[in-house]
Amino acid sequence: MTDDNDTVANGLRFECQPGCTECCRQQGFVYLTEADIVRAATFLGMTRSAFERKYIYRTRNRMRLRVPRDASCHFLHDCGCSIHRAKPSQCRAFPFWPELLESQREWAKTAVYCPGIGKGPLIQIKIAEAEAEDMRQGFPEQYLFR
Ligand code: SF4
Ligand code: SF4
Repeated sequence: MTDDNDTVANGLRFECQPGCTECCRQQGFVYLTEADIVRAATFLGMTRSAFERKYIYRTRNRMRLRVPRDASCHFLHDCGCSIHRAKPSQCRAFPFWPELLESQREWAKTAVYCPGIGKGPLIQIKIAEAEAEDMRQGFPEQYLFR
């Protein structure tokens, strides 16, 4: 839960740091939209159904990437995300997720492992919020009550 008075203020700085993959190593799931699946499957030269069989775990209402036993993500290689140009929208939008922008506390907790937060150019809050809105649109069940 977040508090309305707790939102991240205007003027946040962020610049993803070259060589960093910390957000890919955090606990949690990567949820997928239909467009994410088609984009990644196409990028890998796979059919949608082959991609689903190999990489997707379905719950009743949602789809997410399977998590391998010995790694945090099938696509995380030594040199970074192996599907970078086609990575899921959840990964693309990080750290501008609604639940992070809506809470200074969550933003500060994220900054502990994301070295890009606080660096680089000032990001207009409208740009960050547009990313967050894409997340809301992509995952309506997840953000239904936000
Ligand atoms: S943790 Fe932050 S700096 Fe590192 S890859 Fe993710 S977004 Fe970029
Ligand atoms: S799909 Fe790519 S960006 Fe997303 S968690 Fe996996 S390795 Fe990281």
